[in-house]
Amino acid sequence: MSEDTIKEITDFSGYKGVWVFAEQRDERLKNVGLELLSVGRRLADKLREELVAVLLGHKVEELADELSAYGADKVILVENELLKRYTVDAYVKALAELSLKYKPSILLIGGTLKGRELAPRLAARLGTGITSDCTDFDIDEEGYLVQIKPFGKLMAEILCRTRPQMATAKPNIFKKLEQDRSRKAAVIREEVKISPEEIHTKVIKVIEVTNNPYENIENAERIVAGGRGLGSKENFKLIYELADVVGAAVAGTRSVVDRGWLSANQQVGQSGKTVAPKLYIAVGISGGAYHTVGMQNSEVIVAINKDPNAPILQMATYGVVGDLFKIVPLLIEKLKRIQR
Ligand SMILES: Cc1cc2nc3c(=O)[nH]c(=O)nc-3n(C[C@H](O)[C@H](O)[C@H](O)COP(=O)(O)OP(=O)(O)OC[C@H]3O[C@@H](n4cnc5c(N)ncnc54)[C@H](O)[C@@H]3O)c2cc1C
Repeated sequence: MSEDTIKEITDFSGYKGVWVFAEQRDERLKNVGLELLSVGRRLADKLREELVAVLLGHKVEELADELSAYGADKVILVENELLKRYTVDAYVKALAELSLKYKPSILLIGGTLKGRELAPRLAARLGTGITSDCTDFDIDEEGYLVQIKPFGKLMAEILCRTRPQMATAKPNIFKKLEQDRSRKAAVIREEVKISPEEIHTKVIKVIEVTNNPYENIENAERIVAGGRGLGSKENFKLIYELADVVGAAVAGTRSVVDRGWLSANQQVGQSGKTVAPKLYIAVGISGGAYHTVGMQNSEVIVAINKDPNAPILQMATYGVVGDLFKIVPLLIEKLKRIQR
């Protein structure tokens, strides 16, 4: 397809503004919305357009101040009892009506469980495209949103020829801006009529998926991650032992999750979670792009691998080349001695 075919000659002049869906639960904003405001700010500044946060819920007005402090120029607020708890029907309806009215050029949604359900349905309702799990964004010389994500060993740059240009990004991909409480965004109240009959799902009971601290990897400050180099599920006791000494959660690659050595909650990478801890210790992990895209924002990366050419060693802050079965027990012993 030629460049001209991809970028059909269509008049998009009526579409303006960068929108970020500000996901909240129990009247508390999810970090991912604030993270998207930071990249949204960069895009809006480049386009010289407004950055708008869209907030849906019930009795959530107070959250507008936080959205403003994290970079929004404007907050579009829809309050309705039927938006108190997320349902895909009500949220798609509200966002679709707002999008049709205001015509944003770009609409970013966090790649959370809810976002991953909401975004494609909304895109279908609006008759536009969507790129999921982007790891970066830019604006090209013609003002198109460049949606960047890993594709095998390459980074794909995807353009959308319809509007709004929709994309999701997982939590922990972007860093929030420093908050500035002196910023004051204009709050625009909108009403969306929703009737209970339009909502086809009913929440009967809320069950927390995990309260196992080892598995709470998205919020962990320290993570010890194991790969196929561990050789067996039993050998993961070494990883758990190191995690105990360091005070860390435990994660792993898709290879180990596929083998049942760890739970799916613990997978880091393109088809797992994105993490950004202060410390990430990668043990017996090769460092393929599908894994590293999920942990590359970690502050300090320590990699232990017997292969000096393993890609993970290229990106590690500290690399240790050697047999993990010798190094990890030594590390545990040394750390225990320091802690005594
Ligand atoms: C569409 C798609 C999506 C994917 N999504 C993900 C994802 O979300 N997350 C993910 O992790 N992967 C994902 N993958 C898979 C990914 O491409 C890699 O195959 C995977 O990350 C490799 O896992 P690994 O590092 O555990 O295993 P390997 O690549 O087999 O690496 C094992 C490493 O252990 C080292 N080693 C072996 N023995 C020892 C020892 N005794 N001491 C020290 N080091 C040792 C080896 O040198 C090697 O580097 C995806 C793939 C595809 C196609």
